[in-house]
Amino acid sequence: MLQSTYHSLSRNMVDQQLRRRGIRDQGVLSAMGRVPRHLFVSHVDPRDAYSDRALPTSQGQTISQPYMVAMMTELLRVTPGLRVLEVGTGSGYQTAVLAHMGAQVVSIERSEELAQQASRAIDEQGWSDRVKIVEGDGTLGWPRGGPYDRVIVTAGAPRLPRAYQEQLADRGRVVIPIGDSETQHIYLFERASDRWVETRSIGCKFVPLVGQDGWPDA
Ligand code: SAH
Repeated sequence: MLQSTYHSLSRNMVDQQLRRRGIRDQGVLSAMGRVPRHLFVSHVDPRDAYSDRALPTSQGQTISQPYMVAMMTELLRVTPGLRVLEVGTGSGYQTAVLAHMGAQVVSIERSEELAQQASRAIDEQGWSDRVKIVEGDGTLGWPRGGPYDRVIVTAGAPRLPRAYQEQLADRGRVVIPIGDSETQHIYLFERASDRWVETRSIGCKFVPLVGQDGWPDA
């Protein structure tokens, strides 16, 4: 696709799907206007990549709707230099948005194939210096890379996995969909030393977070 075509598609996506629905974080709007979403879903028509919906990835998983990516990233409050743990790399699109915002990202994906594809896409975008993609069970976090300032989970969990509480820095934030295996709500957990504040946000529908501290493997 021509650069000018994808620039206009992503500009439209930002105006129509994000600004209009109340996304205000300039870092989020600017990153999502610049990250070439079509390169993370190479198996779908490039024009569909910017449409207002979730899309299938190659392994029966989904790449989140642009609005969901924006809303969760806004809730996370990302600033340059923060250490972010992402669970459920999938296509790597959310990973690229975080990297574009200046975060140092560790992203965990349980599917070997998706982890490899996402690593390739991230390398091609030149983000490999600030992104590490790890294959494994993200419900256990990744202690070696912690403590993290932020944790973002993009698969639906039955509850907040204990590892994220243990690996989160003081003043840290966790954004995670929690509910049953079909529908969830986005939750924000904020830590102020030993005190945790929990806020429930919008309803959503993610594929299940499968692992030791998540849903059992079907
Ligand atoms: N943010 C991604 C969403 C992908 S869907 C995107 O927009 O592309 C959720 C992903 O979570 C799937 O790729 C699935 O394989 C992965 N996943 C599910 N359980 C996991 C676990 N315990 N650890 C790591 N990844 C997991």
